[in-house]
Amino acid sequence: MPVFMIDVLPEDAPAASIESSVHRVDGQTPTLDVRDLGAARGDGVFETLGVVGGRPQALDAHLARLANSASLLDLPVPNDAQWRHAITVAAASLPADRQGGLKVVLTRGAEGGSRPTGWIVATPADGDFAERETGISVVTLDRGYSSDVAQRAPWLLAGAKTLSYAVNMAALREARRRGADDVIFLTSDGFVMEAPTSTVILRLGDRIVTPRTDIGILPGTSQLSVFEFAADQGLRTEEALVPASDLTRADALWLVSSVRLAVPVTSVDGADVPVDLELTRAMNAALLARRN
Ligand code: PLP
Repeated sequence: MPVFMIDVLPEDAPAASIESSVHRVDGQTPTLDVRDLGAARGDGVFETLGVVGGRPQALDAHLARLANSASLLDLPVPNDAQWRHAITVAAASLPADRQGGLKVVLTRGAEGGSRPTGWIVATPADGDFAERETGISVVTLDRGYSSDVAQRAPWLLAGAKTLSYAVNMAALREARRRGADDVIFLTSDGFVMEAPTSTVILRLGDRIVTPRTDIGILPGTSQLSVFEFAADQGLRTEEALVPASDLTRADALWLVSSVRLAVPVTSVDGADVPVDLELTRAMNAALLARRN
């Protein structure tokens, strides 16, 4: 599992300093200062990118979201050229004949220090992604936020991809306790949000719909690519306020994310949902073929 530590450069650093700022380290070597606020408080941001053929997918969209998350946390603006270089080097370290993923992390740095910490972990995929065909069961869980949380309480950082994923992981454990594979979060006023690590997409007739991001969810890079693909197919795409009741009246339902890609949902809270396998396969072919 290749690991790369990054000497985080300011936004305006000279291009000549970039190459020597990315260091591949032995995965067994301790690399993180235990005082790092990313580790101690989850005070930082991250991205997970898919890697296909040794190349990162949707790099521009991920870099834009990293910059947006950093800005929401008042972290220094990431140096775009540095992260682009580091991500490209890390992706090339993975076997070209297997899909994989990169976890790209930027934290506030060590307590009392003055510099953010950055690293990338590159992981080859270990499974065959069978769930892209077989689908998954989900349960709905209350996220405890109303649909106006992002406007009402911006300090809750809804919509930033922060390192504080303990709640997301707890929700996945709750799903397993209930005999399901994954979760769809609902707002406290009954609207569909997102899954703990993916975006929700529904097909309602000839409309492809995803929840609006202004309710306090992450803008998904995979969702964006699926919408481009759907528009090319002549399907209508729409960002909407989606009532929870739409989940069980959908003609098809997916969770989409960068490494797992589009996974059809077969049931919601025990109620069957139709699977559109043909459209799922076409979506995944389009996602795998993505360059940028
Ligand atoms: N929503 C959440 C909370 C996520 O953590 C993720 C990805 O990790 C997504 C949505 C999907 O984003 P993307 O398609 O960019 O992977």
